[in-house]
Amino acid sequence: MRYLILSDIHANLAAFEAVLAAAGVVDAVWCLGDTVGYGPQPNECIERLQGLPGLVCVAGNHDWAALGKLDLSAFNRDARTAAEWTARTLTPANRAWLEGLPERVEREGFTLVHGSPRFPIWEYVLTPAVAYENLAYFDTLTCLVGHSHIPAIFQEGRAGQGVIQFVPVPGEPFRYRPVRSIINPGGVGQPRDGDPRASFILLDPDAGTLVYHRVPYPVEETQARMRAAGLPPRLAARLSYGL
Ligand code: ZN
Repeated sequence: MRYLILSDIHANLAAFEAVLAAAGVVDAVWCLGDTVGYGPQPNECIERLQGLPGLVCVAGNHDWAALGKLDLSAFNRDARTAAEWTARTLTPANRAWLEGLPERVEREGFTLVHGSPRFPIWEYVLTPAVAYENLAYFDTLTCLVGHSHIPAIFQEGRAGQGVIQFVPVPGEPFRYRPVRSIINPGGVGQPRDGDPRASFILLDPDAGTLVYHRVPYPVEETQARMRAAGLPPRLAARLSYGL
């Protein structure tokens, strides 16, 4: 079995297509939220996602923002402008689909959330200390999170060791079982770890291993669409740097 784990597509269809092409045939796709927001093709990304095999998808803060379910004053000005643009651009059918996304799903020994198991919509799991606190908030062995757009693996250490953070090496298989862990595949549509390539995980649930991948995509194509849509220039520029 081969599962594609991805997050934070952020309406960047060019990046999303590059990930799907690189992933090849998969048995299931698990998406950790923020399918829309920031990028220029929210409807196209939702419709592409809907057609994928074994799809499981949770809601992110930008999905909620586009639906008016969040107070936009918590967003910076560019994010707010993009959220308002997304709200105007979504078709009624795609809005309804976003409305139906759960905050949390358990599937085959995994908990799927956008931010953290403690606060699924908002909390960032960026440090071993925060990861450690969050171990108490899910019952499965592994929790998959997005939101930070930074690839990361947090694993529970032996008694008294707390949580250990691993920086994933693309292409290198990582054995996630049998230790409890919180794992972030990084971002598809707006990476923030200084590498502009789209990030994702291919997971083999039978073997208990996963492999991180990075794939280049035509950034200029997304940037041109953002300019044409009148989205904030800073949001387009950051895609070149992965920041
Ligand atoms: Zn995001």
